[in-house]
Amino acid sequence: MKKIFSLALLFCLSLAAMAQTERPKLVVGLVVDQMRWDYLYYYENEYGEGGLKRLVKEGYNYQNCMLPYVPSVTAVGHSSIYTGSVPALTGIAGNYFCIDDKYVYACTDPSVKSVGSDGKDGQMSPKNLWATTIGDQLHLATDYKSKVIGVALKDRAAILPAGRSADDAYWWDTDAGHFVSSTFYMQTLPKWVTDFNKQYYTKSKFNIKTSNLGVTYTFKMAEAAIDGEQLGQHDQTDMLCISVSSTDAIGHKFSTRGKENHDVYMTLDKELASFLSYLDAKVGKGNYLLFLTADHGAAHNFNQLEAHRIAAGGWDYNKTAEDLGTAIQKKFGFQPVITEDNYQIFLNDSIIAAHGVKKQEVVDYAISELRKDPNFLFVVDNEHAAEATVPEPIKTKIINGYCRQRSGEITIIPRAEYFGTSDTSANYKGTQHGQWNPYDAHIPCIFFGWHITPGETNRTTYMTDIAPTVCAMLHIQRPNSCVGEALR
Ligand SMILES: [Zn+2]
Repeated sequence: MKKIFSLALLFCLSLAAMAQTERPKLVVGLVVDQMRWDYLYYYENEYGEGGLKRLVKEGYNYQNCMLPYVPSVTAVGHSSIYTGSVPALTGIAGNYFCIDDKYVYACTDPSVKSVGSDGKDGQMSPKNLWATTIGDQLHLATDYKSKVIGVALKDRAAILPAGRSADDAYWWDTDAGHFVSSTFYMQTLPKWVTDFNKQYYTKSKFNIKTSNLGVTYTFKMAEAAIDGEQLGQHDQTDMLCISVSSTDAIGHKFSTRGKENHDVYMTLDKELASFLSYLDAKVGKGNYLLFLTADHGAAHNFNQLEAHRIAAGGWDYNKTAEDLGTAIQKKFGFQPVITEDNYQIFLNDSIIAAHGVKKQEVVDYAISELRKDPNFLFVVDNEHAAEATVPEPIKTKIINGYCRQRSGEITIIPRAEYFGTSDTSANYKGTQHGQWNPYDAHIPCIFFGWHITPGETNRTTYMTDIAPTVCAMLHIQRPNSCVGEALR
């Protein structure tokens, strides 16, 4: 009897061991900075078979994936994709935002040092990110045995996706002309990174972000990370967060049309095809789960639109902030405007308090002044956005994007295609992003590989659904501030 019992116990134990949660060997997040959803189709006839077209053909395509917040900018996009959350909860309220009346960059961390150079470009960390990412949750689920790594030319696009518990993050130091990291992650670069830097570098101060070379180097670095850290070769699932930054820098400079944008998407398509072949060979077809998305889109250049009679234009945000400061100075006797950024006006609390004026009075007056601008449809007091007469989905996007401790006090919603820019001239050839409108907020979202059957849907989904979808597929807890929904 005792013998039968032990045999039965042994059988149950071995069953339990066999029934280990099924997961892919590697999760790859691929963000293409500033990739409008319609680039999947605008250039479709020129893409090869192995890159973006392969993702569309073999993957599951969420055709109407939207950003559920404003402002639609890089740091917010990258943190929201991987946390499944919004600035109100993640603390990443913009590329820049205010902490204690100081206007700071999202990833600046003076307490850390650059590793791989001695410049300021390396003094970065995710310390301003409050929420956990997919990678953090993977770490929690595997007792930190998974490896989670971020790679991008832009520091914020490598650091924020990988999360605070990330093993490594690498980004480009323009002065040094190669990839670096910071003491937040490590004391010295691993050998595979120093080896990589000997082969792939530029001369100091060369702006690789506005070059197609930036796309190639990013994918090469991603492959080097997989080789160097043996990602996808461990008992536990690993994760690699890649972001392609050159598409954004080139878009800003040359806009959504023309040779430069065309060429960078052709390079992206070619490098993606070769990266997918690499993954097939190295990790194995069907062994990795990949998603492709973007942090935001971009508006078309207003001069190009106006040439075809489409209502469009640019407004000078510096002038808006200056004029507002002057008006408040006249009325109250002090100047509390820190800046306009993220389509928000940032006010200095300490200056207002020092003058014994109620902040609400200043906010109300500022709003009444800003509403005089005929290009501004709505000017909203963020603290009371829920009561504002603003149509959905704009109202919800304002609320989701408002981080009480860090955002500006006032949100400006201009007319469609009227974006904020420092150059409003007829010679301006570039573009911007940051608004709620479809051109900035409609992004690609394709899942590909492990357990994905080809297909597509036109139903509206959100950027914040990506993280809970990946977590549901992996059977791990969704990130701690996630507000999205699992799509499968
Ligand atoms: Zn940008």
